[in-house]
Amino acid sequence: MQTIALIAHDKKKDEMLDFVGHHKDLLQHFHLIATRTTGTLINENYQLDVETMMSGPLGGDQQIGARVATEQVDYVIFLRDPLTSQPHEPDINALLRLCDVHDIPLATNRKSAHILLQYADKKLQG
Ligand code: PGA
Repeated sequence: MQTIALIAHDKKKDEMLDFVGHHKDLLQHFHLIATRTTGTLINENYQLDVETMMSGPLGGDQQIGARVATEQVDYVIFLRDPLTSQPHEPDINALLRLCDVHDIPLATNRKSAHILLQYADKKLQG
């Protein structure tokens, strides 16, 4: 099963929930991992059995980064808040960098996330 990592900053959590709701039929065919609050919210709203890491500011981005580095993640959807500075900016940058190092598709806004899932769906169909 392929793995998708889902992360949303606080001001993007509603958008992430809405996005996941729209795509849940497809997302159920993937192993999903997420930072703690993002994953918990998704699990409370949908039956998707998301595996949760630590919260982003406490190291969750780094945990997901480690999975990217060990090639255990196939796609990353990271709805970032571009208008608020984050205390864990270095961790965020490290995760984005690792996606580029390992050539892992990364979407940082909803429209690109939508395109990413269309691609993932096509790949799934073979
Ligand atoms: P959270 O972490 O899902 O635990 O809120 C995301 C983040 O803020 O990086």
